[in-house]
Amino acid sequence: MQYDSIAQQLDNLIRGTYSSVELTRHYLDRIKQHAQLNCYISVLEESALEAAQQADQARAAGNAGPLTGVPIAHKDIFCTQGVKTTAGSQMLYNYDAPFDATVVSRLATAGAVTIGKTNMDEFAMGSSNETSYYGAVLNPWDTTRVPGGSSGGSAAAVAAGLCSAATGTDTGGSIRQPAAHCGITGIKPTYGRISRWGMIAFASSLDQAGPMTRTAEDAALLLGVMAGEDPLDSTCLAADVPNYVESLNKPLDGLKIGICEDFFAEGLEAGSEQVIRESLRVFEDLGATISSVRLPHIEYSIPAYYVIAPAEASANLSRYDGVRFGYRCKEPTDLADLFKRSRSEGFGDEVKRRIMVGAFTLSTGYYDAYYRQAQQIRRLIKDDFQAAFAEVDILLGPTAPQPAFSLGEKTGDQVAMYLQDIYTIAGNLAGLPAMSIPAGFSSDLPVGLQLIGNYLDEASILAAAHQFQQRTDWHQRVPASMAAEN
Ligand code: GLN
Repeated sequence: MQYDSIAQQLDNLIRGTYSSVELTRHYLDRIKQHAQLNCYISVLEESALEAAQQADQARAAGNAGPLTGVPIAHKDIFCTQGVKTTAGSQMLYNYDAPFDATVVSRLATAGAVTIGKTNMDEFAMGSSNETSYYGAVLNPWDTTRVPGGSSGGSAAAVAAGLCSAATGTDTGGSIRQPAAHCGITGIKPTYGRISRWGMIAFASSLDQAGPMTRTAEDAALLLGVMAGEDPLDSTCLAADVPNYVESLNKPLDGLKIGICEDFFAEGLEAGSEQVIRESLRVFEDLGATISSVRLPHIEYSIPAYYVIAPAEASANLSRYDGVRFGYRCKEPTDLADLFKRSRSEGFGDEVKRRIMVGAFTLSTGYYDAYYRQAQQIRRLIKDDFQAAFAEVDILLGPTAPQPAFSLGEKTGDQVAMYLQDIYTIAGNLAGLPAMSIPAGFSSDLPVGLQLIGNYLDEASILAAAHQFQQRTDWHQRVPASMAAEN
């Protein structure tokens, strides 16, 4: 039952094949059994079983919501009331959030059971989950490899059957790239679609939450619950949230898919390229037409992102000073020593690197040379996409330049690590909805296919993904070591 989609689980819960308590207990057992994967920072055994029991009672009483009884994990970047929320950092090792993030409360109101908090790169900075203070997460497909990052714990937990679905956040690719590496489905909606209230900030103009699931149908279901206006976040859009599930089967006949040839430039691993090119045939069979588009400024997305994201991070992370909450150094000699040592000891290397880069590019004299230019490039990238969407409905390409790499392989080479997001970052800079779905394998490792949609048009990429999944079974494959388990 751990690999049933949420749609199937809801069916089973309604028919009484199993109860939410049984399903939740099953996942809790599996989490223990596969503890070496290190997917979770906190497992909420007691409160999850209590919530599951309430869910079963609500269902019996005829009060079920859209997700009643479904066990979901939250990336440990979402505040959960009274529960440790660390953002993968030592800085927040003792932070019990005093409130729920909007994402958390909306899913709970819909009936979901919160089973635990997943591991992640520290403050969501990373592409391999190796910057977590709580240790690396192992990829269930090959435990010598990374699950991707920064939502690596969420992706690995879904792939290993340790929850029905999980939440993630994506600032430069952190939902899509780990989804690709773990063979699951993940969507980052339009910037502002989902409230950021209670989501610990990394780079506020780029951060966006989204669901990580086994199927596109499940992603549609969860997105519908998570999305929508929130008075607590002024950047959250007031636009109506369509019924994403209802439009999943809208025929793809005549859908115009754009292929960006720049995505197939040097650097894309041959096996991954083959998988993406073969998937085009499935979409053609479904009635879509394929044409080539150009995104001339896309090659500047990584440099622009690595100026903008650290700049925003340096401002956002200034609040961790050892005074109000979180880590505090021992026996400070004075206030300056308190600030300095709390931050030096509480943050890991990658976070410190970003803070230093951000403080530098925002400083007088360098602002015009770096920050302003990066913002101008961001605008050009956005314009490129707008020109492309005048011609096509959605864009298609790879999610990552190669399948999951080995643990430790890139930790000494920041640029190699930063290049992992080469195909995902532009979507964040432009604020567009984008998703990754499993599309095949290269050397026995899952390969993700990326679909990018126009503003607020999550429905089109979800429908394309869903219909692709009706024709293929890549999303149903599970890691060999876990296939025999039930
Ligand atoms: N890997 C990118 C980074 O390190 C993106 C991370 C993210 O999307 N949170 O910044």
